[in-house]
Amino acid sequence: MATDWDTMPTNTEIAIIGGGVAGLCAAWFLARAEHQVTIVERAEPWGEASGANAGTLSLQVKIRPVLALAHRALLLWEEFEATMGTSVGFARPGGLRVATSDALADALRRSADRQREEGCDTQWLDRDAAHELAPWLGPSVQAATLCHDDGFSSPLLAGPALIDAVRRAGAKLVSNAAVDAVERQADGFRLVTTDGAIACKILVIAAGPGTTRIGQMLGVNLPLYADVDMLSVTEPAPPLLDRVVTHIGGVLSLKQHPNGTILIGGGWQGRGGYRSGRKDIDHDRFVQNLRVATETVPELRRLRIVRAWAGFEAVAPDALPYLGRLPGDKNAYVAAGARGGYHLAPVQGLLLSELIRDGAASLPISAFDPGRYTAIVQHARTT
Ligand SMILES: Cc1cc2nc3c(=O)[nH]c(=O)nc-3n(C[C@H](O)[C@H](O)[C@H](O)COP(=O)(O)OP(=O)(O)OC[C@H]3O[C@@H](n4cnc5c(N)ncnc54)[C@H](O)[C@@H]3O)c2cc1C
Repeated sequence: MATDWDTMPTNTEIAIIGGGVAGLCAAWFLARAEHQVTIVERAEPWGEASGANAGTLSLQVKIRPVLALAHRALLLWEEFEATMGTSVGFARPGGLRVATSDALADALRRSADRQREEGCDTQWLDRDAAHELAPWLGPSVQAATLCHDDGFSSPLLAGPALIDAVRRAGAKLVSNAAVDAVERQADGFRLVTTDGAIACKILVIAAGPGTTRIGQMLGVNLPLYADVDMLSVTEPAPPLLDRVVTHIGGVLSLKQHPNGTILIGGGWQGRGGYRSGRKDIDHDRFVQNLRVATETVPELRRLRIVRAWAGFEAVAPDALPYLGRLPGDKNAYVAAGARGGYHLAPVQGLLLSELIRDGAASLPISAFDPGRYTAIVQHARTT
């Protein structure tokens, strides 16, 4: 994605650390609200998880505490096409979540019940109904749930669209500027980067797995695991899947793009780690990923895999996002650490912009308090 990025200004009203989907979405809402925004990115924007992910936007796979966010985020993804004037590859074909044993079918039914309690339109399909609706499912599928809201967008389209949109909205984007230190100042912060320093009144930390290190610079504990998620894509095929497919027990996501290619993911773990920077395919687990995929949709056996890759997914220990104000700093905020962070990024950006502008968010976010682990450490020290 080579392009002419901006040069580092000496100061800005709001500095956002990280040019992934979280940072760009925050920049989008803040710049449109007339704030002066500069994104400071260590390498190239959209170069990490945001550019490597599967693009699944599924309500059915979300845990209960984030369902309200996930609902709102879906609407925002849909609106992006109109508000940005560019395609992000959004589609809402609905999603099937399948179960391949009696025990998994029970778990699926309980999960669907909980989702309906939270207002999701999740429909139960017994074996016959599932196969009638989706004759391409394999015989191992015993039951499924259908959620009409599930969909996807294309990270390949969304990245350039978001970058272009935030810059048109007036935000600056500085690449190849790694933040090495954050200093508190009387009226804000000073970021020391590998491309010079920048002062800001308000700081937003959206640095994916790098968020932990930025937190340490400010004395805040923001623990994150960096999963090494694998993904692969097939050659183009005639229309085969007309839904997003996920699996309650099998770590699987499948979707077919309009160009016919089918994305196979779900979160099987590759090799490496954030510290070493290695993110490699683990061939044994990759074969298991393909086995679950082909058992679920047998026609996939006829297709060739043309590419497989892996990326770092930063997840907080409780899998909930860090979203809100940093403890002890009224002008520092964070958006990171959510499982399914691509799906949730637009609503995280919207809610942060509301917090910064109005002092309150339009959805409850106390469960996502970025201070929750700092408080645990402080409590342990005093007891
Ligand atoms: C293979 C894979 C598949 C996935 N599939 C899905 C999916 O289908 N649906 C879904 O919702 N989620 C999915 N995810 C998760 C999703 O991709 C992430 O949650 C999301 O992209 C996180 O975005 P982010 O902007 O927080 O982080 P990132 O995309 O990691 O961006 C953070 C940015 O911060 C920069 N940075 C870090 N440290 C510094 C520093 N010191 N100074 C300056 N910049 C810094 C990095 O260079 C990076 O560009 C998947 C992840 C992977 C890896």
